[in-house]
Amino acid sequence: MKEGTSMSILSHRARELKPSPTLALTAKVKSMQAQGVRVISFGAGEPDFDTPTHIKQAAIQAIHEGFTKYTAVGGTDELKDAIIAKFQRDNHLTYKRSQVLASCGGKHSFYNLTQAILEVGDQVIIPSPYWVSYPPMVTLTGATPVIVETREQDDFKMRINDFRKAITPKTKAVILNSPSNPTGCAYTEEELQKIADIAIEKNLLIISDEIYERIVYDGFRCVSIASLGEEIKKRTVIVHGVAKSYAMTGWRIGFAAGPEEIIAAMSNIQSQSTSNPNSIAQKASIEALMGSQDEVMKMVSAFTERRSYIVDRLNTIPGVSCYNPSGAFYAFPNFSSNYGKSYQGQQVGNSTGLANYLLDAARVAVVPGIEFGADRFLRLSFATSMEDIREGVDRIEEVLKKLT
Ligand code: PLP
Repeated sequence: MKEGTSMSILSHRARELKPSPTLALTAKVKSMQAQGVRVISFGAGEPDFDTPTHIKQAAIQAIHEGFTKYTAVGGTDELKDAIIAKFQRDNHLTYKRSQVLASCGGKHSFYNLTQAILEVGDQVIIPSPYWVSYPPMVTLTGATPVIVETREQDDFKMRINDFRKAITPKTKAVILNSPSNPTGCAYTEEELQKIADIAIEKNLLIISDEIYERIVYDGFRCVSIASLGEEIKKRTVIVHGVAKSYAMTGWRIGFAAGPEEIIAAMSNIQSQSTSNPNSIAQKASIEALMGSQDEVMKMVSAFTERRSYIVDRLNTIPGVSCYNPSGAFYAFPNFSSNYGKSYQGQQVGNSTGLANYLLDAARVAVVPGIEFGADRFLRLSFATSMEDIREGVDRIEEVLKKLT
């Protein structure tokens, strides 16, 4: 940068981009905990369980066997075949190797996808509340996120009329996330069919983030929108990964499946940025997808117990209402009756103010709903111990009583 010019050293893109609020909160909690403060965190979007032993063993074996070199960009054939087998087994979807790609996490698959399909001027429909990274990743391409608000009384599912109204000649794609982060709502087959019909009629692509597919409650049957017929499959890209189902957040393996042309473009982008995902983690992911699924069942049964407790308990707090999620591991209660109240002269104005108050006064970390496009809510991850859930919600209730 020349001295005396007003030119910024940073690109416009970088200046506009906010860091991930959930990762920033996790970092803040870790630093408070390192200083000896007992913070109860409902912040992190990751299972508190360890990666199952048989998966770790596969990685250890990969190291011993010297499986430590570059692999094919989109993952080894063995991993691609495991991904293909997963889609066949769980979703009755048939893909070829050229239609699947493994990346460095589901987030990375999503990033490759937005870079592969979006142009300046395109519009992408995103129902809110949404996962924090969708709008920034869309914006990074120069495309525009078009937010369609959902309502608590509709279980946070997009009304078909609202979807229709949001479509313009510039709409390129719609993002679905079922089960959803942050609400835990999940679309039924009938609901997906209605969305699929419109996508076909209006020539839209569907980006279907199914990363929480395995974490569902009360016998909910997760259906992939891509499985509703050839027409919709041709225009759907599924984003998925091993992080949430197999407690493998740190291993960084995600994957995508969809039309050959799009997957090839995503692979090209990946070849010029990260190359292949970690070779050892690829071996571990094959074991995760193809090996025993018993540990997944155990984790889901623990989440089921915690979900019942936290949702019931939050609903007993005066002025709080909490939707009972069908999947994922988040409670998304409405705390807005507390906005406008004060403590020691400090007013709690919105979800950020309330989250800050809870962290300062109760040492409880939650994510403000505003980050997900829904300011009346807070997100509490229940991928944490029952003991912490009990104490954390008790603490929240106590400090709310101090607000007047
Ligand atoms: N999609 C959703 C809805 C998520 O919540 C996350 C993680 O928080 C991801 C994708 C990405 O997961 P990962 O990159 O860890 O595979």
